[in-house]
Amino acid sequence: MNIDNLKSSYTNYLKLNKNLSSFTWFGVGGSAEMLFLPDNIDRAISFIKDKPSELKIFVIGAGSNVLIRDNGIPGVSITTKKLNKLSIDINGIITAEAGALDINVARFAREHERTGLEFLVGIPGTIGGGIRMNSGAFGSEFKEILIDVKAINNSGIIKIFKSEELGMKYRNIDICDEWFFYSARLKTSKGIKSRIHNKMKDIIELRKKAQPTGVKTGGSTFMNTSNYKAWQLIDKAGCRGLKLGDAKVSEKHCNFIINTKKSSASEIENLGELIRKKVLESSGIKLNWEIKKVGIK
Ligand SMILES: Cc1cc2nc3c(=O)[nH]c(=O)nc-3n(C[C@H](O)[C@H](O)[C@H](O)COP(=O)(O)OP(=O)(O)OC[C@H]3O[C@@H](n4cnc5c(N)ncnc54)[C@H](O)[C@@H]3O)c2cc1C
Repeated sequence: MNIDNLKSSYTNYLKLNKNLSSFTWFGVGGSAEMLFLPDNIDRAISFIKDKPSELKIFVIGAGSNVLIRDNGIPGVSITTKKLNKLSIDINGIITAEAGALDINVARFAREHERTGLEFLVGIPGTIGGGIRMNSGAFGSEFKEILIDVKAINNSGIIKIFKSEELGMKYRNIDICDEWFFYSARLKTSKGIKSRIHNKMKDIIELRKKAQPTGVKTGGSTFMNTSNYKAWQLIDKAGCRGLKLGDAKVSEKHCNFIINTKKSSASEIENLGELIRKKVLESSGIKLNWEIKKVGIK
């Protein structure tokens, strides 16, 4: 289908030049040339199959790990907001659509007296974003809970990836960005509801103590490695509380950058680069961005 036909066939689900700031936790960024808002998985699949393969897609989950640049994203952006169905089978395997929020999946497992997904309560993303980032917290990560995931690529080819095939590693996977993960199967074990509940409560409490809450942020800005914790290097470089315009390094957790008022994406990115420079000078280490920076500067 050419672009004009695509636009008229999916007119109810497509927005042109749609500003994306409200789709991200940072609350910054430019517009999507086209934003596709599918109301169900079948529509998402048919759209991806119908679109010209040279038209690239960018998937936005909860937007808790992305910095969308000020001049926006060319091509099609897809939001998984409405793809959030959950089900469980007799073996306790939970099937979650890509846009299901991690916190809702954790609660769903608790309601069904299934354990193993409690750590999801503290990650403010979606299942699709969690797989892409191999997100984790409190000693658990997606790699351990994922059985397999259904995906479609930019050319409309559908494939089921087993967890082992994704090459899941610390906050990354080996599969390239052109795959849209749309439905995942997660493993759980039989648990006791009150214990699951208490574990989730403890995680929430610990988060509140360690991280800034109720602020516009992208979570951890830079990756840790087995040799260092990014926050320690940032602290040593004297960056705690450092400001650039309305972008600020959190005083509470200095691997978090906060949009304090009306920061632009470039202020946030430039503050990140300033931190990298100062850390390189003070420790000789080049920090790697964990946050995904997308779009045009
Ligand atoms: C306050 C705060 C606390 C955080 N704490 C943690 C933590 O403890 N542990 C941790 O690991 N992370 C943490 N994060 C980061 C973030 O929440 C996770 O990386 C999360 O899993 C991202 O999910 P998302 O849906 O928001 O993805 P997005 O930010 O929307 O996208 C992230 C990447 O995933 C891709 N993506 C999203 N959905 C799909 C899909 N369906 N198919 C293919 N690709 C997709 C996007 O294209 C992008 O490249 C935190 C962030 C914040 C703001």
